[in-house]
Amino acid sequence: MIVPIELAHAQNITYDITIDALPQLTFDTNVVVVTNPTVAGYHLETLLSHIHATKLNVVTIPDGEGYKTLETVENILNECFEHKLDRKSLLIAFGGGVIGDMTGFTASIYQRGIDFIQIPTTLLSQVDASVGGKTGVNNKYGKNLIGAFYQPKAVYIDPAFLKTLPPREFAAGIAEIVKMAVMFDKNYFEFLQKSDFSDTETLKEVIKKSVELKAWVVNQDEKEAGIRAVLNYGHTFGHVVENETNYTTYLHGEAVAIGMVMANALAVELGLFTQDEADAVKTLLENASLPTDYVIKDVDDFYEHFFLDKKSAKGSIKFILPNGMGNYKMASDIDESVVKKVLQSFGE
Ligand code: NAD
Ligand code: MG
Repeated sequence: MIVPIELAHAQNITYDITIDALPQLTFDTNVVVVTNPTVAGYHLETLLSHIHATKLNVVTIPDGEGYKTLETVENILNECFEHKLDRKSLLIAFGGGVIGDMTGFTASIYQRGIDFIQIPTTLLSQVDASVGGKTGVNNKYGKNLIGAFYQPKAVYIDPAFLKTLPPREFAAGIAEIVKMAVMFDKNYFEFLQKSDFSDTETLKEVIKKSVELKAWVVNQDEKEAGIRAVLNYGHTFGHVVENETNYTTYLHGEAVAIGMVMANALAVELGLFTQDEADAVKTLLENASLPTDYVIKDVDDFYEHFFLDKKSAKGSIKFILPNGMGNYKMASDIDESVVKKVLQSFGE
């Protein structure tokens, strides 16, 4: 199953996203695989038995979002120099979104840019992070504030890698899948309602559809000047939830699930979404073992947090809301009092 991605306004940038068992890959060049001990422990042997290169080396970096830093990128760069990579060499990102974002960013700056490919191993990275070319790292000012738009040469998505993924991480990926469906495709939402995600063939279908939707969005708007912002549905509220809980209580996808429930409540208040539709989304999230409840202790404080988001231009918050199932609305002019009334409904 191959989903081609063709960036409409970035001429000559096209690449294939393969959703299937990982094929044998042969490269007539030096290759460095970037991974972490967790992923390597489960799957490195399998990966290496599929890669044939002039020279093949593995760089292992510590596991965790806390290591998604410039310092780690510098360590990867140093390894690339040690292994004498040249401008024709290739990096392979083998892991979740953290590995993918950092490997892509490293590839974008090593000798002014070398090729990289993505072999994502979490559900979230298979349906979201590996597609679209956003790369980067965090710093003390926030998440993903340093980086580059840099597209991979190819993406290989093999759902078999997900068998070892912890259940919470799996569910976090489902949240981003539900996001795509609610924003863009009612039929897909209905398909998800009927889906058993533990069934391999179903999961493959679900991944394919999500990747198609993400590629469709990115093809129209690589640099997030318009429609790509719709992918932030659930994120405006979710980021505040993550921030209020110091990034320790919820995985990103879990916070996005809560954020979607909040965005839906606002959409219901504005007459954009019916209560039944909001309930259907909540049920789907709960069936996927995602959290949907959150107690807002201080509504004013929660509201102020919106302005810490880099995507909220000063003075206006851009809310991404469902506008009927499978449709979206971007709104920057929602009255503070309306938003606060909805936030109040999540109060103690
Ligand atoms: P992650 O990369 O931290 O992976 C989650 C955990 O699962 C890690 O401990 C990892 O080692 C482990 N893991 C990975 N594959 C496994 C497997 N097959 N079996 C067992 N364990 C496995 O987290 P993530 O959710 O994949 O990605 C989150 C990151 O992605 C964030 O840094 C976020 O900013 C970024 N992201 C980027 C984009 C983008 O467009 N570039 C989009 C969404 C998210
Ligand atoms: Mg996200």
